Amino acid sequence: MQTLSTPLTSPVASRYSTDGTIHRRKTRPVAVGDVTIGGSNPVVVQSMINEDTLDIAGSVAGIRRLHEIGCEIVRVTVPSMAHAIALAEIKHKLIATYRPVPLVADVHHNGMKIALEVAKHVDKVRINPGLYVFEKPKSDRTEYTDSEFGDIGDKIRETLEPLVVSLRNQGKAMRIGVNHGSLAERMLFTYGDTPEGMVESALEFIHICESLNFHNLVISMKASRVPVMLAAYRLMAERMDALGMEYPLHLGVTEAGDGEYGRIKSTAGIATLLAEGLGDTIRVSLTEAPEKEIPVCYSILQALGLRKTMVEYVACPSCGRTLFNLEEVLHKVRDATNHLTGLDIAVMGCIVNGPGEMADADYGYVGKQAGYISLYRGREEIKRVPEANGVEELINLIKTDGRWVDP
Ligand code: SF4
Repeated sequence: MQTLSTPLTSPVASRYSTDGTIHRRKTRPVAVGDVTIGGSNPVVVQSMINEDTLDIAGSVAGIRRLHEIGCEIVRVTVPSMAHAIALAEIKHKLIATYRPVPLVADVHHNGMKIALEVAKHVDKVRINPGLYVFEKPKSDRTEYTDSEFGDIGDKIRETLEPLVVSLRNQGKAMRIGVNHGSLAERMLFTYGDTPEGMVESALEFIHICESLNFHNLVISMKASRVPVMLAAYRLMAERMDALGMEYPLHLGVTEAGDGEYGRIKSTAGIATLLAEGLGDTIRVSLTEAPEKEIPVCYSILQALGLRKTMVEYVACPSCGRTLFNLEEVLHKVRDATNHLTGLDIAVMGCIVNGPGEMADADYGYVGKQAGYISLYRGREEIKRVPEANGVEELINLIKTDGRWVDP
């Protein structure tokens, strides 16, 4: 196996929490339709449909499907003017047949006119600084002169201004979404293919927005390599802190792939930053149906204690002391109780370590002796029952406490 060396002397960021809670970076609230990103609001879950935006019925169904399972903001790609116009119809159909859903339009290469049209129909426009004013790379270029750099800066300002004014006047939002893989050529020349280049690219756009008194901004610094993504977001947060900027961060690892590894890779990037207090909205990008992304987002947020959207199960891994088939019992307990959102339920194999390690669960199901289990309320042992009746008795206990609701 190849081993990778890591520096041993990296500085410990001061934002690391040692008191067992996550201290979220202070951000300004940015409204996207009826959902607000940042401020004291919970971390928002978002995703993107993969239907063609010109397929109105398909897009409406895709947006609705995502929203119904908890996706709070839905992004749609807008590669052409026809797509931008289609979004007007998508929005109307959603309102007529379902309800308003906060929508974001993704605008890419030289997208000024498209962005201006679509800004009328959606709640937020995402632009990529590397592509918004697209400079065709010159293969023989060896440098950028200051005046060339400045000329392009002027062109960006000219192109961005109408969009900023439109969004500002409508009270809508913009995501400045930098991607490591599509940095503008002049940023690459000046800063290299680095997190610093990503940060400077975002700051250039932020400064233009601020000069036009527009602050409804969300910033992202995505990369497909987790260490690059981590560095870019941390650096961005540091720079914003130093500049007194409080824009919320949208977290994501791009091209994370699929299956177990795609989920782990996304979690490694997103959860690491959330644990450091960075991030106000997240998107897990999987090469799977977008609906598959939502449970991953919620699991990350629940595991970090940032949102509680399901029952928290605490279960021991089982060992030689385990007094019942723990895997089977955990499944049974979960099947019976997984609609009781907000509860913490522990299933522990034995009384040796079980009660002490239940992590203050509301209820505990603990192996007592062969054929018997004990039910706990918090740390208090309530009763011993035959294992065969364990799940039923657990439900009865929850009912007695008035905490049961029918599924
Ligand atoms: S709680 Fe008991 S059964 Fe479960 S791992 Fe610990 S010692 Fe083993």
